[in-house]
Amino acid sequence: MGFFSKDIKTLDDLFVHTLRDIYYAEKQIEKALPQMVDKATNASLKAGFEKHLQETKGHIERLEEVFEMHGVQAKGVDCPAIDGILEEANDISGDIDDKQVLDAALIASAQAVEHYEITRYGTLMAWAKQLGRTDCAAVLAKNLKEEEATDKKLTEMAESNINIQAAE
Ligand code: FE
Ligand code: FE
Repeated sequence: MGFFSKDIKTLDDLFVHTLRDIYYAEKQIEKALPQMVDKATNASLKAGFEKHLQETKGHIERLEEVFEMHGVQAKGVDCPAIDGILEEANDISGDIDDKQVLDAALIASAQAVEHYEITRYGTLMAWAKQLGRTDCAAVLAKNLKEEEATDKKLTEMAESNINIQAAE
């Protein structure tokens, strides 16, 4: 089911398609985060990635809950957007020798991921509410809240410490 196929006829179809998009994305993020844990040097950053890996596993479970609530099969559809963000993150980190600069790059890459998730969850919540699924929106809100908190924490780590060390 591609973006321009005609399989999506209703807002409900679009909601389900987008749920499958973020489900695929969360699973790719779950695979990518252990590599980010390994690459990070700063102890708080490492711990932050580790914590978000655990949260990401919870995001996948909550999405499975939403699929079930909505009575559709839990499955992923290709999401070239997250594949591109993760590929770029990998390319950039492979091009950096300095550990402190690498930490700054890892934060930037992680925030690109969080912002992608934030936009998807925001849209999904709006559509869920429009479709009368405030129950689904409430579950999606829990994921959104954790993505936003992670994004904020990454900003704090960058500005209070990691960017400063990267510039030395
Ligand atoms: Fe997530
Ligand atoms: Fe996330």
